[in-house]
Amino acid sequence: MNSASVVSESEQAIETVAPRSAPLAGFSGTRRVPPPTNEPIKGYAPGSPERAAIKKRLDEMSNEKIDIPIVIGGREIRTGATAHAVMPHDHKHVLADWHKASPAHVHEAIAAARAARAEWGNWAWEDRAAVFLKAAELLSTTWRATLNAATMLGQSKTVFQAEIDSACELIDFWRFNPAYAQELYDEQPLSNNTMWNQLDYRPLEGFVYAVTPFNFTSIAGNLPTAPALMGNTVIWKPAASAMLSAHYIMQLLEAAGLPPGVINLVPGDPAEISNVLLSHRELAGVHFTGSTAVFNSMWKTIGANMSEYATYPRIVGETGGKDFIVAHRSADPQALAVAIARGGFEYQGQKCSAASRVYIPRSMWKDVRDRIVGMMDEMRMGDVTDFRNFLGAVIDQKSFKKISAYLDDARKNATIVSGGIAKGEDGYFIKPTLIETDDPGYRLLCEEIFGPVVTAYVYEDSEWDETLEVIDRTSPYALTGAVFANDRAAVREAAMALRNAAGNFYVNDKPTGAVVGQQPFGGARGSGTNDKAGSKLNLVRWVSARSVKETFSPPLDYKYPFMAEK
Ligand code: NAD
Repeated sequence: MNSASVVSESEQAIETVAPRSAPLAGFSGTRRVPPPTNEPIKGYAPGSPERAAIKKRLDEMSNEKIDIPIVIGGREIRTGATAHAVMPHDHKHVLADWHKASPAHVHEAIAAARAARAEWGNWAWEDRAAVFLKAAELLSTTWRATLNAATMLGQSKTVFQAEIDSACELIDFWRFNPAYAQELYDEQPLSNNTMWNQLDYRPLEGFVYAVTPFNFTSIAGNLPTAPALMGNTVIWKPAASAMLSAHYIMQLLEAAGLPPGVINLVPGDPAEISNVLLSHRELAGVHFTGSTAVFNSMWKTIGANMSEYATYPRIVGETGGKDFIVAHRSADPQALAVAIARGGFEYQGQKCSAASRVYIPRSMWKDVRDRIVGMMDEMRMGDVTDFRNFLGAVIDQKSFKKISAYLDDARKNATIVSGGIAKGEDGYFIKPTLIETDDPGYRLLCEEIFGPVVTAYVYEDSEWDETLEVIDRTSPYALTGAVFANDRAAVREAAMALRNAAGNFYVNDKPTGAVVGQQPFGGARGSGTNDKAGSKLNLVRWVSARSVKETFSPPLDYKYPFMAEK
């Protein structure tokens, strides 16, 4: 007997109309996602297989020029209106031409997100999670060299900086978020014999707009995928200066089985794209990381458009920082100097968490300064494909000019202890710079520079308490900060005095390098909404819970006992 003949005609009819939205319909049992662990960092030592793989991919990407399309509803669109993606450390070298979306494409992306939502939002969450778990595994293996090489060449990261970002952190986001989603979905209200109460963690009603920065490929991958994991569909606008890695993230997600339309890649003029999306009735959320000024302007636009929306949009934004290190006189000078050198200059100071203002007691200053300068003298800067380099270039000309202007200011109004040199002919290179000022309100101690520039304020040893107060009120930001001290009382004093000055606070460690699952990341005040990327706190923003009460024996009389006469 042919197996098809045992299926009745009506069953066949059901089979043909059964929506793809239930790929595992009928699956019984509480499924658990694999327990996440942090992706080990590869060393790239001479002779290692990972070094050979990345060198090969760097070579290939350096010798090709690719074409990067818009992706809407799974369709690649080429508009012909293009811009270059270049190497910041060799800015005449074009890696790719990327196509810019017009407002009409943005409307198409909204339609694609709406169409995909009907199905994706109704998938069992475990099936959505499986897509990102598979993406993590692909990135850990066959895609690792590709995304790392794209990040190195397109964003000028050394191999180590790329590895901890575009490989390890993004893999961690994609493995830990499903586990956090599981924890969230597990949270259910009280019930009893007469009723069953349930929480239905619905995706938001509408689309999510993800806007990502240039400086972390992992953030670029996380901002669209975290809401998507929770059942939302997304329009993703990456940074113009990180288009190569954005393109490969999109390809990798497709390879992992992400259905068309769940994430739509729409690069182009940010203001033009935002004009369409932020005034649309179906805007349900914004997932942003970038500068405070841009986030503030988006928030204002959303406020002005409030009466247009079908629902209150969730607004999540992680923004700028002016991150500090404060040393107590009991600090270890070598640990402090290394933290300043690494925390201030790795990735050219272009981490939102980079140490950019340091407060050192006078009794330690000369010793610590000389140790830092000794390290700075050794630091090599240049093409990131030369693995001996500790620094690459800053991201683009705008950033190069901005940092150069700060150096000019320092030449006039402070003391440049080391560095201070900017050379932009071939690549946007800024030498690591240490500045000393005796004015605690000097603008280089207050404003975000986003370059390899650390400003030191030397305080009198007797003015520890006053210095903590100064640190707390010097800048509008509150992202990261660190205290170095061996005296436990000093650690406590700093931790309490600076409780609201940093969302990520470090004791005897540099203020950069947060790891998913270990130090949930985000800051308050001018540094963002502090929704801690890569944690349950973030995922909760992408659901709109529905309470469902089911009564097993509903009352059959409208009267209450108290209404009886006797
Ligand atoms: P940016 O603000 O220039 O750009 C961020 C994104 O916003 C980009 O995609 C950009 O195209 C877009 N954008 C620019 N103008 C816009 C507009 N008018 N409307 C809508 N979108 C617009 O920031 P950047 O230079 O890419 O990144 C550096 C900044 O990001 C720094 O301030 C840094 O501190 C911050 N950052 C913060 C965190 C964090 O977790 N707090 C992490 C990384 C970066």
